Amino acid sequence: MTLKDDWEEQLQKEYHLFINGQFKPSESGDRILTRNPANGEMLAFVSVADEKDVDQAVEAAQNAFEDWKATSAQERANILLRLADRVEENLTFLAIIESLDNGKPLREAREDMMTIADQFRYFAGCIRSQEGRYIQHNQAAFSILIHEPLGVIAQIVPWNFPLLIAVWKIVPALAAGNTVVIKPASNTPLSILEFARLTQDILPPGVLNVIPGLGTKCGEALLKHRNINKITFTGSTEVGKHIGKIAAESILPTTLELGGKSANIIFPDAPIKKAIEGAAIGILYNQGQVCSAGSRLFVHEEVYDEVIEGLKKIFMEIKIGDPLDPDVQMGPLIDEKQLQKVLAYVEIGKKEGATLIYGGQRVEDETLKNGFYIQPTLFTNVTNDMKIAQEEIFGPVLVVIKFREEQEVIDMANHSPYGLVGAVWSKDINRAIRVAKSIDTGTMWINEFNLVPAHSPFGGYKKSGYGRESHKMALKDYSQVKNIYISLTEEPTGWYKKL
Ligand code: NAP
Ligand code: MG
Repeated sequence: MTLKDDWEEQLQKEYHLFINGQFKPSESGDRILTRNPANGEMLAFVSVADEKDVDQAVEAAQNAFEDWKATSAQERANILLRLADRVEENLTFLAIIESLDNGKPLREAREDMMTIADQFRYFAGCIRSQEGRYIQHNQAAFSILIHEPLGVIAQIVPWNFPLLIAVWKIVPALAAGNTVVIKPASNTPLSILEFARLTQDILPPGVLNVIPGLGTKCGEALLKHRNINKITFTGSTEVGKHIGKIAAESILPTTLELGGKSANIIFPDAPIKKAIEGAAIGILYNQGQVCSAGSRLFVHEEVYDEVIEGLKKIFMEIKIGDPLDPDVQMGPLIDEKQLQKVLAYVEIGKKEGATLIYGGQRVEDETLKNGFYIQPTLFTNVTNDMKIAQEEIFGPVLVVIKFREEQEVIDMANHSPYGLVGAVWSKDINRAIRVAKSIDTGTMWINEFNLVPAHSPFGGYKKSGYGRESHKMALKDYSQVKNIYISLTEEPTGWYKKL
């Protein structure tokens, strides 16, 4: 009896679109299949939206907007708090669904769900404590600045953190008084739909609408809809570029969270055990399918051998297997396409002259052969100009580059089209801050990796995108500012007499 069997009765075989508070099949009747990456087996059929369904979802969101924006901050905060409780009450179920649909180890899926509950609570607190600004023009005139919601927000999310990234977008949008139409990734729609079910008796109909569908069809139709007021997207830089162009056509504000090839930098005075663990977490968490993966590791020559030995040991010992096994630390990649993409990068690395120290192959174990499993992979003798050091692989492939001088490593770290995150490992706080400030990324960790609490902002520099998620500044990205100028004098200015 597996954990999946325990929950079998609650796993639906058929899912529909969530529009105006109800589940309904698509107008066309079209469906897609979503599979379990651990064994390739079918999980469920999912209705997919086309233009007609997109129209209905946007209309529902538009209709819900006037009432939702009129709710008080207290009412909205209380609703967000109820949603946090609801997620926690269903934490194991949501984590299992996520793990089944995406392949991430259950223990990581549980962490996602806890983070999600915290997002709701954080933003509930933000909107209760929000205070505005006022500008004194002179003794008889001042302005008040009001933040107003934008309207209907179109959101498109990827498959690597299906519900977590969705919630990063849904929560600040709703908290700021907007309504939402969200399109999940085609291969991971289930957790968002299950979450939508949990909101049914809490959110008014139409405030949140979920429309699975193909990016090129449903996604495009949503982004080009005349009645949306903002776009937020997480995914590849290529699609991000395309979405930026669509947004420009309609002058829509946009938040883009795109790829990364982030530098993890270990100096000789690092807290070395923690640094080695941080380097492993940076590339193995979620099988390396993380936009903020620490996929370029720079190690000072003095500690190089020690770090490589430490990493090799972790890579060899890590437990790969069925994601629902609570002890498993690495599950499969999302699908065969992603697996082949990662394996192709392994071949590129070998051809470029890097040394494959560990891994690089599909896992051949009899019980795992139908899943999309790959060994954790470690390359040394890498130079920063190699393809494997410049391009986002999105798998558990770590490339290690040796350095000697501080300025040398800063230059190499910055020599990348991306600028999402990075980390410095050093007990010399002056050096650590100096290096952190010199690297062009939206987040730098010092002696830490991959922590993004709800109260800290997340987003990219350079080709990693623009706008910020998490933190109360996300509320600003989901609203527009109105300046109301107030004059206290009743006397005419006498302007026409001056003509
Ligand atoms: P993607 O193509 O950018 O997909 C992300 C989302 O955009 C999905 O919901 C996708 O729908 C949708 N989409 C695709 N084309 C669209 C279009 N023309 N208009 C509107 N929406 C569209 O990413 P992917 O194919 O899933 O992954 C490819 C690579 O992107 C990965 O290997 C990785 O390098 C990178 N990636 C980055 C992140 C990140 O967090 N920064 C996340 C995931 C992937 P469908 O699911 O229907 O295609
Ligand atoms: Mg799936």
